[in-house]
Amino acid sequence: MRLRLIPLGTSAGRPTLQRGASALAVAAEGAWVLCDCGEGAQLSAQRAGLSLSRLDAVLITHLHGDHFNGLPGLLGTLGLEGRQRPLVVAGPPGLAELLQHLARAGSLGTGEMEVRVLEQRGNGGEVRVEGSQFEVESRPLAHRVPTFGFRVALPARTGTLDVEAAVVAGVPAGPLFADLKAGRPVTLPDGRVVEPAGLVGPPRRGASMAYALDTVPCPSAVELARGVDALVHEATYEHGRAALAHERGHSTGVEAARIAADAEAATLVLTHFSPSVNGDAVAEEARSIHPRIVAAKDLLEIAVDR
Ligand SMILES: [Zn+2]
Repeated sequence: MRLRLIPLGTSAGRPTLQRGASALAVAAEGAWVLCDCGEGAQLSAQRAGLSLSRLDAVLITHLHGDHFNGLPGLLGTLGLEGRQRPLVVAGPPGLAELLQHLARAGSLGTGEMEVRVLEQRGNGGEVRVEGSQFEVESRPLAHRVPTFGFRVALPARTGTLDVEAAVVAGVPAGPLFADLKAGRPVTLPDGRVVEPAGLVGPPRRGASMAYALDTVPCPSAVELARGVDALVHEATYEHGRAALAHERGHSTGVEAARIAADAEAATLVLTHFSPSVNGDAVAEEARSIHPRIVAAKDLLEIAVDR
């Protein structure tokens, strides 16, 4: 199974006519999670054909407006739709209090829906999204306010069964194959027991992605993105303005490429472009460091396969 990355907003600081404020959908069969929820994210999600009822979780990196301001509106829409299923909203410390303020002021309108706020702390860790196929983890990043990046993966799949070898071992085609694939020894009609070892390959890792916004280049981003199929990293400025980027807690495309190379991420997706930069040019100057770089564009889907 593969993941689909659908950028819903790729601008830094504020939306422009070409780029919405930060938001990215990570979708698999029948469900999706939303990384950041800048202003306009719910409209972009509708344009992308994503069903809001299939949203499993919202992962907010930090509370700057260009990553958060779309959340109250999205929660209100889910409330109006009469959603009963709880919604996980993970994010930095302070998220719960902020949402409580908005709820008390009557700004949220979440109706019957329970919003499960999971504040990330310290070195981050597992983000439990009950009933979801997605495996989510967080790690702290280095920005001007408490910020966490997220890693989203599909579960590991069972190894491949060597059918020929199984038949040679005397296992008849049928339900016993499924037992072997699941790692269980099987008993044959003649009483012999056949172990799965040697007949079934190792489990195959599910597709995975990491989302690192906003941050200066930091070791924690490398840890977050270790071995992922796609790293989505901010690239607010071109490398000529690295000093400005750092002063504002951001990275350049070249620096994001170094992070991706260090983490051995297969593909790098650059996003969070300042309205003053050309995203394609930022990607181009980073290509000498990492061979597979995509400059994200709103609603331009990126397939992530293992
Ligand atoms: Zn930002």
